[in-house]
Amino acid sequence: MNESSLKKSLSKLNPGGLRYFDSVGSTNDEALAWAASGAKDFSLVVADEQTQGRGRLDRKWFTPKGSALAVSLILRPGAAMRPHLSRTVGLAALSVADACLKLGLSPQIKWPNDILVNGRKLAGVLVESVWSGEDVDSLVIGMGINVYRASLPPAEYLQFPAASLEEMLGKEPPTREEVLRNVLTAMLAWREKIGTARLIQAWEENLAYRGEQVQIRAGSESLITGRLAGLESDGSLRLMDAHDQSTTIRFGDVSLRPAA
Ligand code: ADP
Repeated sequence: MNESSLKKSLSKLNPGGLRYFDSVGSTNDEALAWAASGAKDFSLVVADEQTQGRGRLDRKWFTPKGSALAVSLILRPGAAMRPHLSRTVGLAALSVADACLKLGLSPQIKWPNDILVNGRKLAGVLVESVWSGEDVDSLVIGMGINVYRASLPPAEYLQFPAASLEEMLGKEPPTREEVLRNVLTAMLAWREKIGTARLIQAWEENLAYRGEQVQIRAGSESLITGRLAGLESDGSLRLMDAHDQSTTIRFGDVSLRPAA
């Protein structure tokens, strides 16, 4: 993967701009700085390696050289998207899931931000925003997709099992350029539907553990257990307790796991 192979592969999608790095701290950090200094809508930062890749809450996201897709996409939300910014993580997760489906895999979305295949984490999404006063000026959608086996972190480092496309497909995976093209093609289509019930419905249908008992760890202490019922229209998660009372879990410091 290099700048010219990426440009060639993505040319029909008309990205607003493209910055490619052989190695970078974090693609989201680069994209946040670029967005703040006027990057165009649908600009991309892609790296072959991240040395300081981040998950949520500054947890580390592992992107070894030559093995994975690390990309951050800058969106400048228009009027149609503005009322639905909380759906952005779903937009990204669905787009990665569609790209996996296209390869014949059966992806699921572990709410809010991970894509699982066979119950293992294949990709993660991290959405961050650039503010201008009270308003969101732009969104940065970071996506880390494990393409080759070498993209997996060492086992002792994982709190959740991980997977790569190479392993799940059982053969040579498509190039990272092709994976990215498929994700972005799906993103362009879903973005048009961001305000629709169809997006929430598709996100909900693809949720891992739907109808099952799950645990949500919020912060360091509290643990909420319930049946994963679905999504609210803003993308929050709906759980049902044993008395069929519903609780809404908003994004934030939460980790979802199947109940033991
Ligand atoms: P959570 O699983 O709680 O939702 P995050 O979405 O914040 O966590 O992702 C960060 C976590 O993902 C890290 O703490 C690490 O355990 C795991 N991780 C880091 N890099 C990878 C990777 N390349 N593939 C799969 N899992 C990873």
